[in-house]
Amino acid sequence: MDKIEKKDIKSMTLEEMTEEIKGLGDKGFRGKQIYQWIHQKLADSFDDMTNLSKGLREKLRENYELTSLKLLDVKVSAIDGTRKYLFGLKDGNVIESVWMQYKHGNSVCISSQVGCRMGCRFCASTLDGLARNLTPAEMLDQIYQIQKDTDQRVSNVVVMGSGEPMDNYLNLVRFIRLLGSENGLNISQRSITVSTCGLAPEIRKLAEEGLSVTLALSLHAPNDQVRKTLMPIAGKYSLKEVLSACSQYYEKTGRRLTFEYSLVKGVNDNKEEARELAHLIKHMHGHVNLIPVNPIKERDYVQSNQRSVAEFQKVLEKYGINATVRREMGRDINGACGQLRRSYLEEKEGGANESMCND
Ligand code: SAH
Repeated sequence: MDKIEKKDIKSMTLEEMTEEIKGLGDKGFRGKQIYQWIHQKLADSFDDMTNLSKGLREKLRENYELTSLKLLDVKVSAIDGTRKYLFGLKDGNVIESVWMQYKHGNSVCISSQVGCRMGCRFCASTLDGLARNLTPAEMLDQIYQIQKDTDQRVSNVVVMGSGEPMDNYLNLVRFIRLLGSENGLNISQRSITVSTCGLAPEIRKLAEEGLSVTLALSLHAPNDQVRKTLMPIAGKYSLKEVLSACSQYYEKTGRRLTFEYSLVKGVNDNKEEARELAHLIKHMHGHVNLIPVNPIKERDYVQSNQRSVAEFQKVLEKYGINATVRREMGRDINGACGQLRRSYLEEKEGGANESMCND
């Protein structure tokens, strides 16, 4: 017998869900009840939905898939309580997410794809290429499972884990809308940051969605020449094109931009490059996040030393550009983006499970 693919109910909007439930011959308001069970009470099973009749629950089970990630591992930092999660997906893929505590609330960093095809030279997520996109439900459930595990409200979400969110555009936009819905976790769009390596057309599209999420651009170089050595995407879209798309984003949303700049010793971290960067973005309404690169064993990039980082920051500030050095969270359990997943896969395949932490 052919197995009919069940519909992904956790990726549906309230309106879609209401229509579905009517289609099953039930009352529309049940749609809202189910939506709240899934997105507010964070139910992992239709059986938990106790205010629905048994018959309806049975119909839901027959027709719909309720995506729920499997918690495979969590590493907790003894220094600052940062938690790194490894989740299993239904098809056997694994992804990672991070939970961080700040004074202003708890923040979750989620993955948007399994692997990544952007090929940034310093990034561990891209070493095996892209396996597949994550569904909106799989993006949401990273947050839901973490909120349940910590028993604390998540107030900020950053799409800065593995994957390129703009390469999974439609699922990303749907995810943002579901996360902000008032019958869900109701996380304000202003508390969501989407980080991109710079897919200019998608940045322009996002500017037109009527959303107000913060856009972070992974810049990592003050000119195309250096950027091309670090990020293949720089060969496709020039800085001029990407920055112009970012300006459009600012004009449309009024949201100040974030520029991420990972400092690699001897590659992009001298004072002249800091000056060049300052000139490049001085009219851009944004601030710079400096990240000393987190070395991965597959590449020989070296982290800039503290002095160069401080000098780089000073030059930017001299030109009136606000720059912060990103505080390293969970230093003891740290690994760069995608490294927890890689070490898990290597272990499973019987490969060496070396410590990924080089600093
Ligand atoms: N694909 C998106 C989001 C994922 S990466 C993007 O490119 O923005 C999140 C940020 O971490 C990006 O700025 C990325 O360039 C940076 N990053 C990845 N690996 C890193 C490493 N080993 N050291 C420092 N920053 C890294």
